[in-house]
Amino acid sequence: MTFNHSYEKNRISFREIYFPLSKRKKENFIKRVKSIVTEYKKKIQDKTDIDLGNIEVKSYRYFTTDALEELERRMIISGKIDESKLPFLLKYIGKPFLEFLRICREDWVDLTVIGSQGRIYVPFGFSAKTNMYWEQFGKNIHLEQKVVHELSHILWNKIRESEDSPEDLQCEKIWNEGFATYCDSKYFKDLYPPGYELMNGKRPAVYENGRKKVDSVIRERGDSALFEIPNRWTEFEKSLPALVN
Ligand SMILES: [Zn+2]
Repeated sequence: MTFNHSYEKNRISFREIYFPLSKRKKENFIKRVKSIVTEYKKKIQDKTDIDLGNIEVKSYRYFTTDALEELERRMIISGKIDESKLPFLLKYIGKPFLEFLRICREDWVDLTVIGSQGRIYVPFGFSAKTNMYWEQFGKNIHLEQKVVHELSHILWNKIRESEDSPEDLQCEKIWNEGFATYCDSKYFKDLYPPGYELMNGKRPAVYENGRKKVDSVIRERGDSALFEIPNRWTEFEKSLPALVN
């Protein structure tokens, strides 16, 4: 399989799981994610005929800064907050707090995306480095499937017509995760190399619940309804049979 040699020269030792990884190793890993992104972006565009736009891949340490920038943009667009108060709120309250959360979370997160910005973030925390470590001994860390998952979030944003934040953010998150999970495990399954093993086992509740919702929409309306979900999920939510909720 194609991913078997690139990490050879980039071995990470057991010690490095607990200590910061060298800049070179981080850069090499980001490069590897980038090449997977390029490959699968093309495959997804060919299959869907939807242009995913320019996609950046960067270290998760930039997540806070970028997420705040995005939040600021959305708040200004929606007029939810007085523009003159933004810099103060963000600099002195929002940023240190979110930076603290980012550091705590980085140990446990996987690839993360800000779909509307087309940016994918690569974490180098405890859990990510443990994966990198075990990959040397043959563990499949499912980078391809994770990349397809994040690209599917970007796809969701490309299909979505409105720029406004939905009223029920939590519900949108469930549908969005369900969509990406359905895409990475079913709809884009044919894009992986032959014999590619998908992640098995249960994923966190938000993914599973979302996937059940998406499954039931597809069962009822067929495959073509998949791409209607980003614009019509509120409507679908109301018509779902009670057992999915
Ligand atoms: Zn996701």
